[in-house]
Amino acid sequence: MLNKAEIIRLLSEEKTQDELFIKADSVRKQYVGDEIHIRGLIEFSNICRNSCLYCGIRSGNNKISRYRMSEEDIINTAQSAINNGFKTIVMQSGEDIYFTKDKMCRIIEAIKKNDVAITLSIGERSYEDYKSFKNAGADRYLMRIETTDKELYHKLNPNMSWQQRYECLLMLKELGYELGSGIMVGQPGQTIKSIAEDLLFLKELDIDMAGIGPFIPHKDTPLAKEKGGDLYLSLRTMAIMRLLMPDINIPATTAMETLHPQGRIIALQSGANVVMSNITSANCRKLYELYPNKEKAHETYSGFVNKLHCISRIVSDTHGNHKKIA
Ligand code: SAH
Repeated sequence: MLNKAEIIRLLSEEKTQDELFIKADSVRKQYVGDEIHIRGLIEFSNICRNSCLYCGIRSGNNKISRYRMSEEDIINTAQSAINNGFKTIVMQSGEDIYFTKDKMCRIIEAIKKNDVAITLSIGERSYEDYKSFKNAGADRYLMRIETTDKELYHKLNPNMSWQQRYECLLMLKELGYELGSGIMVGQPGQTIKSIAEDLLFLKELDIDMAGIGPFIPHKDTPLAKEKGGDLYLSLRTMAIMRLLMPDINIPATTAMETLHPQGRIIALQSGANVVMSNITSANCRKLYELYPNKEKAHETYSGFVNKLHCISRIVSDTHGNHKKIA
């Protein structure tokens, strides 16, 4: 296995990155094959109690209109996506406590009447909530640790606790969720050494999926004037993740696509095996502005099918669970 010094070298070197990408692509092929899993993403509320300095839907941003989809609307959106072939529904939102345990469970149960996997990405909740969501039928949970540099975390995520986020990840794991986590690359003040530590942390946590994307400054946040994350450093980070955890699910993230018109395709050829298609209605989607130009990266199910065909990859017709073989 790669040690920290080797990871730091691979992260730092541009001249060897093509080799790294080719290696990650071949490890991907060997362990998870040529199938791509297309997940359907519903961004059901942009209301958030937190105020992460980088995020466009932070509670402190009073320049955006806020929305919440109704239960019925969420269930109908999921249903029509399932009818169109999606095998996983991902429900993401700001940390919006209007969606109580009971509301979430009703939504999960309704969607689970179908043969489909459900992923939640709604932030920090209590053990009891996580347990009820699981019993209602949720299969997976996504929550990025963002960074393992605690000082940086507390600077960029005021009023939040790194330890608490970590403990939430442990709870989710104990409850038997497929666990997704990851980081944002290029946060102001983040170092290469700390990215290497993040990768080793994710390996140690034994995650099932890793979401890695560049930081993109949003004009209505305190980090508006900061430099954004680098696409190729993000890709190197993702490719190393594939080498460290050969059989996990790794999405080609939307944030990568906003930095390059082929960002997701490059990622799929450098270790990734998952994409997310946003199935939220256009009027809500454009208000879920975590970062700018997300809309430019929008792709439908059939749009993905065409693009994937061009790079000789197959669209999976399974739920796309993590199969441990490494
Ligand atoms: N409330 C949920 C979902 C957060 S949004 C939670 O707490 O997990 C999903 C991810 O978007 C975040 O984890 C973060 O890594 C990413 N994100 C937020 N703002 C961003 C920005 N400006 N640039 C790039 N990624 C961003």
